[in-house]
Amino acid sequence: MSFAALSRLQQRLAARQADHLERRRSVLDGTQGVHVTIDGQHVVSFCSNDYLGLAADAALVAAAHAALDACGVGAGAAHLITGHHRFHHDFEAAFARFVGKPAALLFSTGYMANLGVLTALVGRHGEVFGDKLNHASLVDAAQLSGASFTRYRHGDLAQLEGQLAASRAQDKVIVSDLVFSMDGDIAQVDALLDLAERLDAWLYLDDAHGFGVLNDGRGGLTERARSSDRVIYLATLGKAAGVAGAVVAAHENVIDWLIQKARPYIYTTASPPLLAACLVESLRQIGAGDVRRERLRRRIAQLREGLAGLKHGSLMPSVTPIQPLLIGANADAVRLSQALRARGLLVPAIRTPTVPADTARLRITLSAAHSAGDVDQLIGALHAIA
Ligand SMILES: *Cc1c(COP(=O)(O)O)cnc(C)c1O
Repeated sequence: MSFAALSRLQQRLAARQADHLERRRSVLDGTQGVHVTIDGQHVVSFCSNDYLGLAADAALVAAAHAALDACGVGAGAAHLITGHHRFHHDFEAAFARFVGKPAALLFSTGYMANLGVLTALVGRHGEVFGDKLNHASLVDAAQLSGASFTRYRHGDLAQLEGQLAASRAQDKVIVSDLVFSMDGDIAQVDALLDLAERLDAWLYLDDAHGFGVLNDGRGGLTERARSSDRVIYLATLGKAAGVAGAVVAAHENVIDWLIQKARPYIYTTASPPLLAACLVESLRQIGAGDVRRERLRRRIAQLREGLAGLKHGSLMPSVTPIQPLLIGANADAVRLSQALRARGLLVPAIRTPTVPADTARLRITLSAAHSAGDVDQLIGALHAIA
């Protein structure tokens, strides 16, 4: 039976489809990795965030098996009731030590961590200053906090400085992706910290794509940012760490405050403790992961060299595993992505509104698990498709 609200929704769906904006899911069988079976087709994947190849790593799988016998499957309660397991607690301590911050708090996802941190840190009398290319979860978090929300042009710290200086807000927070998720470039951490110090703001850095990869795996914090009490650091744990969740590392009082106030921490069931046990093993692998990071670095160099002369698109400047190939129009990006898919190569087209209009791109991500042959295959296909 049809009714007016449903037919409006059907019209909106049809409009998205007509504009090449429709989102669809593909179904993966088996384990995540660079060689995967998706919608029944065997493909080489250039789109996961499993940058170190840890998602199906044997040591992590063994840690999961061992933990399962020790703690069962479900956490059974929220962290503030009886859900906070020794495994969660031990991971937080190990993580804080690893990144050189006094304390840490484990959330179920990065999205929830961002909502939790910003809503706990600022309210109606606060102001959030965010880079225009920040991840959607940071935008949503700023809006949910009820604080004024001011955005500055990507990387434009002169504009940010003017905005901070003009602010009358009591609590100010500068919020930035540390590695920008759709562009792959890195935030100017020390310059942001200078501004935060000069104009008395917190600096909240979301390192979803840098943790595990940059600086011996410790992520994108500089030494100054590591030792600054006004820097609050977020690593997500479903990307290079290969598991799930997110962890905030900061001054002890900030962590205590989050435990009091961060609603996405308080009002949710704790994540399965076996995941935290896997994360302890993942941290060990990341700490000892120089070989993986070197392999990743070589693949990045190989791709950039191989695509230097490409006619129908150009790689954006990036030293990270995120290597976007700028195309322009949504339809062109989709067409290229489909042509690659026909050759067994999986590279997603990222379109408006995820990225600004006319900057549709193929978002290539590389992993330490890619072979030189995998990357050669992609380079060859992109030149051939021209
Ligand atoms: C992926 C991502 C998140 C969300 O993390 P999840 O753990 O996947 O919810 C947050 N911020 C950035 C920059 C991301 O890329």
